[in-house]
Amino acid sequence: MTDHTAKLLVIGAGPAGYVCAIRAGQLGLDTIVVENKALGGTCLIVGCIPSKAVIHAADEFEKARHWAEKSAIGVKVAKPEIDLAETVKWKDGIVKRLTGGVGALLKKSKVRVLNGTARFRDGKTVEVGADKGVEIVRAENIVIATGSVPVELPFLPFGGDVISSTEALDLREPPKSLVVVGGGYIGLELGTAFAKFGSKVAVVEATERILPLYDAELTRPVLKRLKSLGVHLHLSAKAKGLAKKGKGLVIEKADGEEEILPADKILVTVGRRPATEGWGREELALDMAGRAIRIDDQCRTSMSGVFAIGDVAGEPMLAHRGMAQGEMVAEIVAGRRRRWDKRVIPAIVFTDPEVVVAGLSPEEAKAAGHEIKTAMFPLSANGRAMSMEGEDGFVRIVARADTHLVLGVQAVGRSVSELSTAFGLAIEMGACLEDVAGTVHAHPTLGEAFQESALRALGHALHI
Ligand code: FAD
Ligand code: NAD
Repeated sequence: MTDHTAKLLVIGAGPAGYVCAIRAGQLGLDTIVVENKALGGTCLIVGCIPSKAVIHAADEFEKARHWAEKSAIGVKVAKPEIDLAETVKWKDGIVKRLTGGVGALLKKSKVRVLNGTARFRDGKTVEVGADKGVEIVRAENIVIATGSVPVELPFLPFGGDVISSTEALDLREPPKSLVVVGGGYIGLELGTAFAKFGSKVAVVEATERILPLYDAELTRPVLKRLKSLGVHLHLSAKAKGLAKKGKGLVIEKADGEEEILPADKILVTVGRRPATEGWGREELALDMAGRAIRIDDQCRTSMSGVFAIGDVAGEPMLAHRGMAQGEMVAEIVAGRRRRWDKRVIPAIVFTDPEVVVAGLSPEEAKAAGHEIKTAMFPLSANGRAMSMEGEDGFVRIVARADTHLVLGVQAVGRSVSELSTAFGLAIEMGACLEDVAGTVHAHPTLGEAFQESALRALGHALHI
């Protein structure tokens, strides 16, 4: 049995954990990170990056198929085919490069990496179990960054043809028919991709709208595109279980009737839950906030010297939020005065078209008691959007009526994900409508729609 001591022990090397460890190493803290799978976590291995690679491949294939049918822009393509096994190999190459990169960064920061499963013995001691035996780590500070796992429906357990996003990202050929249970982030991102690969896709969503977190105005272009891709939407519908005969899913529709949807694969994407089991939580006295570990504005848990970051600490379960928490916690352990004071965590849904939200929507701002000014600028009036056939969508800005402080920005449209940086920066820096309107935006870019939305809120948009 080997014994280690460290100033900081991080459990889990996903985006939250590895960023925390790198920053701690940079600050000269004696740091150990433990990981029982590969470096990079859900995000790099089976989440953000691989899903975006598969979505990109699906977009390219769909474009080629589109041009093979009719070519308004003069591009001619003959009979495109998709070799999904090749796509998956390419995607795995990207993942390998990135996880290797994380290893190199940890090494550069002099962080020690232990491979194995960490389990608390007490609030300062963790045992790490691996094939080669058990190692003990004693640390002054411990960060729990164990991430999240997909929610399983009891009547539709994972296995066989019932898959989670992990298996969906590893399929060697597109299923002929795919039923997606859950019309949220993952269901719609991957459902859209498989529809583009040629699968017959149906989405079963329990609420009355797709992407129910966002308002109907924002998700309307996504709904329109799903329909044009031939995706069947079953809204206000519930999955009930596998069909007794043949391959299919029994659903209960909004009117109470049952229907069997044919399905070669059933992708269940009804949310993710914090990974709070398997690491000895029972040995600790941690307060919980629902299924997540309760944290304060420094990511401290109810136990002294124990922090929690990333998905295990609850919503929003986004990689960039975990990374920002990880960086902050490393600095706190190094003695810096930090607390969570971020104004905004932008979120993107990589559907077609993409959806970006940063800060408050008009409804949320009103519910928070603000009197607001809001304006929307359509991409149909933006030259860049026209030149890339991305006219369906808009940028919408929300500001305080009195001070014009920007409270939120939302957008839907082709390639608008990259605008999230501008939206986030404006809100984080406390920009007013006049600041956005008065910034010279390069032409021709989608970003001009952001400037025009601010101009429009001020009553003098130039291009509409
Ligand atoms: P994780 O990335 O889950 O990492 C936790 C790590 O801890 C894992 O590697 C796990 O093996 C390890 N671990 C757990 N228990 C132990 C233990 N006892 N001992 C040792 N190691 C342990 N977010 C975005 O922001 N943008 C996106 O585009 C996006 N796309 C996504 C697409 C999909 C298909 C999925 C599933 C998720 C996506 N997410 C996206 C969410 C994102 O992946 C998570 O928010 C992010 O990975 C959370 O980071 P984390 O470090 O908290 O946890
Ligand atoms: P989600 O919360 O985004 O969506 C789940 C959907 O399933 C909801 O619309 C919900 O109403 C529906 N639902 C729940 N139970 C159901 C049932 N029994 N039958 C039918 N529908 C049901 O969850 P997800 O898509 O699994 O994604 C999990 C998390 O991963 C997200 O919350 C997000 O934090 C993260 N993620 C982020 C990105 C991104 O940033 N682009 C991409 C993928 C995942």
